[in-house]
Amino acid sequence: MVLEPEQDILRPHTTGSNCSYLKRVLEKVGKSMRCPFCSIQDTRVIDSRLASEGDQVRRRRECGSCKERFTTYEIAELTLPKIIKRDGSRQTFDEKKLRSGMHRALEKRPVKSEDIEAAVSRIKKQMTATGDREMPAGELGEWVMKELNLLDHVAFVRFASVYRSFQDVSEFTETIKNLQQDNESI
Ligand SMILES: [Zn+2]
Repeated sequence: MVLEPEQDILRPHTTGSNCSYLKRVLEKVGKSMRCPFCSIQDTRVIDSRLASEGDQVRRRRECGSCKERFTTYEIAELTLPKIIKRDGSRQTFDEKKLRSGMHRALEKRPVKSEDIEAAVSRIKKQMTATGDREMPAGELGEWVMKELNLLDHVAFVRFASVYRSFQDVSEFTETIKNLQQDNESI
C-alpha cells in the first residue's frame, strides 16, 4: 500500500530537483536525513510503503550527492511492560534480544525475514495489550514458542529445548501437543 501525501509529507509527487512541492515540504521540515554513505544532508524519499502488517513504514531514500540508495524503517514507540525474571528481578524488554533469539532458532530454516518481523510485531502487540507495567518472563517465553511453532516446527523445538529446563521428555511432548492443538483450533 502506498501512503497518501498527507500521511507522508516527504514523498514527492514528481521527481527532479525542480519539484516545488518537494521544496516547500523540505522548507517546512528543515534539512533532510543525512546520507549513511557520504554524510551529506541531501537525501530524499523516493518510495514509502507499509511493511510488517502495517506496523512499519518502509522508506527508500536516495542521496542527492552520491546517488546511493538506502532504506529506513519507522515504527511507533510503545511503552512495553518490564519483564519479571525468574529470580524476581525486573528487566527492560529487549526487542533485539527477542529477535536474535528467534533468528537463532530459525537459522537455516525456510522462513522469510518478513514473517519473523510479523511475529515479533504480534508479540509486542500482545505485550502492549496486557496494559500491565510488568509481566512474567515465562509468559513472554510461551508467546515466543507459539509464534515459532506457527513459523516452523523445527525452530520451535530448538527454542523450546533451550528455553525451558524440562523435567522430562513427557513434559516436553505435552507442551508440543498442547501447542499443536492450539494451532488446529485457530
Ligand atoms: Zn551520499
